[in-house]
Amino acid sequence: MFNAHAQARERQRKLLLELMEGHQRFLSGNPRPKRYSLLGSLDLVGKDVATVLSCSDSRVAPELVFDQSFGDLFVVRSAGHCLDEAILGSLEFAVTQVNSPLLLVMGHEDCRAVDAALQKKSFDTPNLKEVIELLAADLGPGPYMDLNEAVKAHIHNTAGSIAQKSPILGKMIVSGELMLAKVFISVSSGEISILD
Ligand SMILES: [Zn+2]
Repeated sequence: MFNAHAQARERQRKLLLELMEGHQRFLSGNPRPKRYSLLGSLDLVGKDVATVLSCSDSRVAPELVFDQSFGDLFVVRSAGHCLDEAILGSLEFAVTQVNSPLLLVMGHEDCRAVDAALQKKSFDTPNLKEVIELLAADLGPGPYMDLNEAVKAHIHNTAGSIAQKSPILGKMIVSGELMLAKVFISVSSGEISILD
């Protein structure tokens, strides 16, 4: 059992390091070339894949900001990384079926979806209304100093909600089989910081 835990920690540590090294390449403007044809030569069965839950905002594409390529990331995105059954089920698929040992929840500066929830904006279309209501419920009453403080609280709340709403993922987080990391990305500098 101890060895299994040590192995899981090592896989998680290595994956997170790869992501942060990729992020440095992205920041320095030296991303690796991406060639789809390489996919055929990768040993995808034995390769660890990191899962990223992020906002759908066009400024924070996970493959770009972590300079990852085909076969590296299982990406699940929604406005304001709002959690519904489809999103939770997709995360469970990534972890239990793709065997991903690392899950990143990535929120971002100037998130317009979180802002809409914070402002309690009302929408006529029921689907969008539901997304904003889900985000507002997750944010709670506040108060927040500014939008970025609300986004950071929302990242923490989303991470907590994943563990709470998905018993299987919650159990795996507690046992250490799944590492959950919370990150914030600035859309003005592109820099990513890992939250405590
Ligand atoms: Zn956003």
